[in-house]
Amino acid sequence: MRLILLGPPGAGKGTQAQHLVAKYGIVQLSTGDMLRAAVKAGTPLGQKVEGIMASGALCPDDVVVSIVEERIAQPDARKGFILDGFPRTVPQAEALDRMLARHGIALDAVIELRVNEEALIRRIESRIAEMQKRGEPLRPDDNPDVLHRRLTAYREQTAPLIAYYRDHGMLRSIDGMAPIEHVADAIEEALNAAEPKPAAKPEPKPTPKPAKSVLKSAPKPAVKTTSEPVSKPASNSAPKAAAAVVPPPRPRRGRRRRE
Ligand code: AMP
Repeated sequence: MRLILLGPPGAGKGTQAQHLVAKYGIVQLSTGDMLRAAVKAGTPLGQKVEGIMASGALCPDDVVVSIVEERIAQPDARKGFILDGFPRTVPQAEALDRMLARHGIALDAVIELRVNEEALIRRIESRIAEMQKRGEPLRPDDNPDVLHRRLTAYREQTAPLIAYYRDHGMLRSIDGMAPIEHVADAIEEALNAAEPKPAAKPEPKPTPKPAKSVLKSAPKPAVKTTSEPVSKPASNSAPKAAAAVVPPPRPRRGRRRRE
């Protein structure tokens, strides 16, 4: 299972992703978490994005695309993944399409958590105030001003992805303001209704000299590079026909067929 959770900051993507991780045994790939880890570790990548993240703006597309490409090639992501916070721009979505095609895999669904922005702002501001009261540490971008900038970035740069994935027939929209369990149930229903995608094709062999890792703590992955042969993209028209050539056994006269 491979899916994208789409929605503004504070819509509950992380919470729902954790639920899906527990249910399906797939990994949550949060670009925000990966970037924060890089900032914390003080890597060159972290130094590059620290100020951008603190301001509430989006990091450059090429930076996030390369960390996602490296991450999905790691063994724990083979079974499936939830992209949380990626893609966030149309160029990132296009890069993801190319990347998945190179790896011979396809998305199963894009789940949009729809929210009422005013209610969302009130919810996040009261959460921040409560955390401050309890003396809990806040993220550098966890303050009302930055929150407004992050929401503007969502509206201007990320919301166009709703039309992008609707046009691709992938979008499932869910009321993200409902109680957490209701949202989880609605996501499950949407996933059950999503058309099953063709199985992944074997990944192309890694090149002998992998590119330098941008994920500091990550184990040495079989990093794919664009110089590899590009495998055929998985699509709805992929080899469905194989199943159709074997007709089902005909029931014998006078005997009930076993289901
Ligand atoms: P998040 O935890 O997903 O809200 O992300 C926190 C911050 O990380 C964002 O405000 C951006 O500065 C940066 N970030 C995370 N994911 C992306 C992305 N896909 N594209 C650009 N910037 C990102």
